[in-house]
Amino acid sequence: MKIVQTFAEARELAGGRVGFVPTMGYLHEGHISLVDAARRESDTVTVSIFVNPLQFAPSEDLASYPRDLDRDVALVEAAGADIVFAPPLAEMYPSDPLTRVTVSDVTETMEGAIRPGHFDGVATVVAKLFAGIAPDAAYFGRKDAQQLVTVRRMTADLSFPIHIVGSPIVRESDGLALSSRNTYLNRDERIAARSLSTGMFAVAAAVRGGERSGTVLEQIAAGPVDAEPGIDLDYATLADQESAATIDALDRPAFLAVAARVGRTRLLDNVHIDPDGGDWVPDEGIRLDTTSILYREA
Ligand code: AMP
Repeated sequence: MKIVQTFAEARELAGGRVGFVPTMGYLHEGHISLVDAARRESDTVTVSIFVNPLQFAPSEDLASYPRDLDRDVALVEAAGADIVFAPPLAEMYPSDPLTRVTVSDVTETMEGAIRPGHFDGVATVVAKLFAGIAPDAAYFGRKDAQQLVTVRRMTADLSFPIHIVGSPIVRESDGLALSSRNTYLNRDERIAARSLSTGMFAVAAAVRGGERSGTVLEQIAAGPVDAEPGIDLDYATLADQESAATIDALDRPAFLAVAARVGRTRLLDNVHIDPDGGDWVPDEGIRLDTTSILYREA
């Protein structure tokens, strides 16, 4: 495996079909599942590790975001990637960028409403990575559901010849969706955080039981979070998988997304719900049966 700092080197070393996994590092099994998916479908697997300042508001956790390149490199190498692209700030932003990629409409609800400018930062860095790496396919987690919608739309609108693949959420053994930010949680916060996935599993059960009302599904998602002291719900929303618009009923491919704050940490979770032979099938994701590598030194 090669570790490179420039787009030119990343492109030079790549051959055949290139699968690309963009990350902000401090990797866990969610990221590794994307590398695995890329590995199955690509000749070259390139993983980028870059904490993108453009997608953080001044009030957010850019400075404290966990970083450990040596640890990440060891994990990515063990997963069978070929190239780690870990650019310095000057490679990604040689000068203060005057260009922003703004994806309208799909960024208006949920995270977009709460974090103004966030998806501009995401769309801009992903567009730059797509242009600089020139992959054939790029792998994203369903964990960041609205981000996936935004990236799909940006890719289509800007005619990037790149196939976007969405992968299921990987969860800790008690259900909590894996996130690099889970490392911020203290013991009490970690217990409270579990209420998000409890709500998601209840939503999945309700969908399997025939529930189709957006309001009812949102109430089911919110219930365990509202009942838990020390965690504040930002939203529980049933949204269209293509437009990220809020919908009243489960009548098209959708996801039920929740966001909550516990201490200084914001947490996201969702359940994607897809049609399958006249039925609606919720995707609860994949659960680890051991402690996550998130809590292990490399
Ligand atoms: P991040 O490093 O948080 O920017 O995430 C990089 C990629 O990993 C994004 O496509 C995320 O959606 C994906 N990802 C993060 N957490 C998970 C998870 N628990 N399961 C699946 N994918 C994830």
